[in-house]
This record gives sequence, C-alpha cells and structure tokens, in this order.
Amino acid sequence: MESIKRNVLLNPGPSTTTDTVKYAQVVPDICPREKEFAGLMKGLREDLVRIVHGDPGKYTSVLFCGSGTINIDVAINSLLPEGKKVLVINNGAYSARAVEICQYYGLPHIDLQFPVDQRPDLAAVEAVLKANPDIALVHTTHNETGTGILNPIREIGALAHRYGAVFTVDTTSTYAMRPIDIEKDNIDFCMASAQKGLMAFTGLSFIVGSRAIIEQSKGYPRRSYYCNLFLQYDFFERTGEMHFTPPVQTIYATIQALKEYWAEGEEAKWARHTRVFNAINAGLDALGFRQVIKPEWRAGLVSSAIYPDDPNWSFEKVHDYCYERGFTIYPGKISTTNTFRLCALGAIDEQDIRDFFAVFRDALAAAGVKTPVVYNA
Ligand SMILES: *Cc1c(COP(=O)(O)O)cnc(C)c1O
Repeated sequence: MESIKRNVLLNPGPSTTTDTVKYAQVVPDICPREKEFAGLMKGLREDLVRIVHGDPGKYTSVLFCGSGTINIDVAINSLLPEGKKVLVINNGAYSARAVEICQYYGLPHIDLQFPVDQRPDLAAVEAVLKANPDIALVHTTHNETGTGILNPIREIGALAHRYGAVFTVDTTSTYAMRPIDIEKDNIDFCMASAQKGLMAFTGLSFIVGSRAIIEQSKGYPRRSYYCNLFLQYDFFERTGEMHFTPPVQTIYATIQALKEYWAEGEEAKWARHTRVFNAINAGLDALGFRQVIKPEWRAGLVSSAIYPDDPNWSFEKVHDYCYERGFTIYPGKISTTNTFRLCALGAIDEQDIRDFFAVFRDALAAAGVKTPVVYNA
C-alpha cells in the first residue's frame, strides 16, 4: 500500500482519513444487488445503531445516498403528520437550514430563534410548546457547526416528549465523536454522514431512530419520493438493500472506518478529539484570538475565531499559505461577525495541531499581521 500525501483538514468535514480507509474503496467491481453486498449493508446498519448505544429492537438506521443535508430533509419532510407543525430551535446556520427545508416544503413551522452565541432558553421553548399543542416535531442541532456551540439536547428532548412531540436532532458534527446515548438523550432520530465523525467519505448519510415512529409515519403525507424515510426503511426491511443505487465504494470505506472506530473505542476517540480541541484553543489563545462561543458552552469540536482588526489580516492569504503546506482552515458561518473555523474532526492528533500552529504563525508573519493579534474594541 503506497502512502498518500497526508493533508490535515481543519474544516468541519470532510475530515482527514487514514490510508486504510482511503484504500478500502479499491475493491473488485461488484453489483450492489448481490447478496454479498446486502450482507455488508446489514452489518453496517447495525453498527450505526450501536454507535449511539441504541437497542436494536427499538432503533434502526436508514441509509441514504447524499451529503448530510439529505438527512435533515428526509427527517423533517417524512415525520410530520397532516395538520401538524414543526418547531425548529434555531441558534445557528444548520438549524436555519432546517427552517429553509420547512419553507421549501411549505410545512407549518415555528422558527424559534436565539442568538448564535447563546444556548436556547428552555423556558421559552416550553412556552412555545405549551401554546402550540399542534407541534408534532421538534428539531434542533446538537453541535451548531457554524459556531461550535453545544445545545442541551437531552433537556430539549425531555420537553418535546412532555408535550407529545417527536424529537429529531442534527448530530452530523457530533455523531461518532462526542458520545451520544440515543435513549438517555431523549432522541427519537439523530443523523450523520460518513465523512464527518466516522472519518470516511462523502456520499453516504444515515438517520438512526425509532422503528415504531418510522412505522407510524407510513400514513403521513408523502412530500418527497427520493427522500422519504418510510419508503427507504421499508425497502431495506423487505430486501436488505437501498431503494436506489448505493454509493458502493463509500460503503466499503465506511465499513473499514467502523472497524477503526471500534478498535480505537468511543472513549479513546473522544479523548483524542478533546486533546486536539484543547490544542487548537491553546494555540488560538496564545496568538490572542478571540472566539465567538464562551469556553463552557463549546461542544469540543469546532472553534470559531473572530477576525482581528489588523489591516493586514487576510483570511485568503493565511488560508493559501497554510493550504500550500498541507493544512486547511475554513471560513465561518455567521452573518454578523467575520470568523474562521478550526475543527477537531478527523484522523488527526495533538502533534498535527502543533505543526499547524507553526505554519499558521509563519502565515501571519508573512502577511504582516501583528501577534498577539489586535482588536479595536
Ligand atoms: C456538515 C453538517 C451537515 C451536512 O452538510 P452537507 O454539506 O450536506 O454534508 C449538516 N448538519 C451539520 C450540523 C453539519 O455539521
């Protein structure tokens, strides 16, 4: 196995992968309708439930071919009964995406907004649930990847259930990184895709959730053909296959990534991401960078640093300097503040972050940015 140039991706997914995962895609051609392939998918689906400690009798996973956003689309359009309403608890770009999905499908919804650097106010959430007994679906994002804030999903889920609603959570940027217990965390449906915490590739996304609720949704309005949760689930249950062509090579890579996940272990993997995250914060702090989210609210995976007021600061220049040396940094996703992000996803460790900051310091010096960086206010 020849080694492939290793890039350290500090963007919020796709993430740095191991060579063994990269090479797992190189397999003999196979028709995914063969029994052999269906067998692989069965094991994969079971593993995806195990990652969030789901009881396989109660929970299942349903695979889709697409990037992570397909899950949000599927969950919201498939799980809303006729005449009912969606409540989106929205403190960032990814929950805003769920609101857009409601708008595109013309679904009755409440967009309950909170500032992007604040946790949702649970009393406000409860007041809305109380005042709107027709809310049947509550949706939010676990780690708002746009800023890195951790939302209190267990508490929100408890509220949703108290008022009789189903709780869907976008866990795309926490799944297989920050430990999740689907039942204890009061989650009915969570979701992710293979290129994030699992450290595989784009093209495979999945929703993990309650079998009973999926079966109940059989009679709900059919708002999409390709993106219907029950249709895909039912096809899997009857045939063991995806309804339409699966991303064959990505599935092989994901199966290898799962082997590596179990070998590393949930606790050790989370400890590694935490080491990386701490190193990122220490590096930013040492250079005087301010961040959007206060330390105690950070989900431990994404740092959002605010652009300094130095006239020589140029994200593009700094990015290009780092990129040429194998490190990728990423712009922010907040409309009101200019930020860039450094993320602790992927097959990287503390040493990679130390190496990154050596390059980043040089990039700042090359651009003529003063360090520690300056802010006017
Ligand atoms: C990455 C991500 C997604 C999916 O984005 P795609 O570009 O469609 O892969 C969805 N939600 C969150 C929270 C994410 O971090």
